[in-house]
Amino acid sequence: MEMEMEQQEKIKQLLQHNNATIIAHYYTDPEIQALAEATGGCVADSLEMARFGWDSKAETLIVAGVKFMGETAKILSPDKKILVLDLEATCSLDIGCPADDFSRFCDQHPDRIVVVYANTSAEVKARADWVVTSAIALDIVRALHLEGKKIIWGPDRHLGRYIAEQTNADMILWQGQCIVHDEFKADSLRLCQEQYPDALILVHPESPAQVVEQADFVGSTSQIIKFAQNAEADQFIVATDRGIFYKMQQLMPDKTFIIAPTAGESATCKSCAMCPWMAMNTLDKIQNILENNSNEITVPEEIRVQAEIGINRMLAFSATRSINVKASGDLSRDRALFHQIGPA
Ligand code: SF4
Repeated sequence: MEMEMEQQEKIKQLLQHNNATIIAHYYTDPEIQALAEATGGCVADSLEMARFGWDSKAETLIVAGVKFMGETAKILSPDKKILVLDLEATCSLDIGCPADDFSRFCDQHPDRIVVVYANTSAEVKARADWVVTSAIALDIVRALHLEGKKIIWGPDRHLGRYIAEQTNADMILWQGQCIVHDEFKADSLRLCQEQYPDALILVHPESPAQVVEQADFVGSTSQIIKFAQNAEADQFIVATDRGIFYKMQQLMPDKTFIIAPTAGESATCKSCAMCPWMAMNTLDKIQNILENNSNEITVPEEIRVQAEIGINRMLAFSATRSINVKASGDLSRDRALFHQIGPA
């Protein structure tokens, strides 16, 4: 404990010395989220991380998350130095959607608008017409559908299916998946609900259809947190990465959160819902990259400029809909920002 405190003090000094700030994802370890908050950084989802970094006066952004989040920060903040804790920390959605293959797929359907999820490489974002997050994907696809547009969606097939069902949009789906959310099991979830009959089920839309069907609420990480805050219930079964529990318990200490099962055959609520790449983020690595100025993210300028177009379309859309997607990362302060965001 004492060593941990010493390390945190050391990192605070290094952050000051390097004019750096930590932007951390909800799925990272609680100790990283706590340090980000204690040092004036933020804890948020991927878009909010990039937006916070863009707003920040810090010259260096320490991205505690996965590589595509570092790239998104670089796309929006090209003049800042972006360091990630581990260059090998990636994402199954990113890995499962190579830019060349995805581009060929798009070329086969030239009559369709290309909409990609933020969980993609800079190159895939550059191939897209729109870049969206789970918090706003439903609203954007619905608007495109009302304009008569047909859509290519990538890379998460579950989220794409959910959006197509909700909007009736004509969508062709890339068949990617998040290895964390894809593992939630419908049968085990039913058993879990029997154990906790008063609990509401909160599900991220990257989960399989049979899991989403059982949900009392479907939403992005920020929306799941907000829903739990506003609900009268005090027990929740949550189908997303367990890292979210740090923020949920911090904001709602009197409520009970149960991780949704991934075990399939088990009658208990066993679950290992934890992203292996998010788990690669550690305090030791924060100290190391601050001491060595290593793990810098670069994005070729032509790719960056092209990728920024799709992100800016999303930001402009959110502004016209009065959907403020910018947050400080502290939901006790940001609560008002989320009340108009749709149920994606
Ligand atoms: S939790 Fe899923 S979507 Fe998020 S980084 Fe890990 S693999 Fe990717």
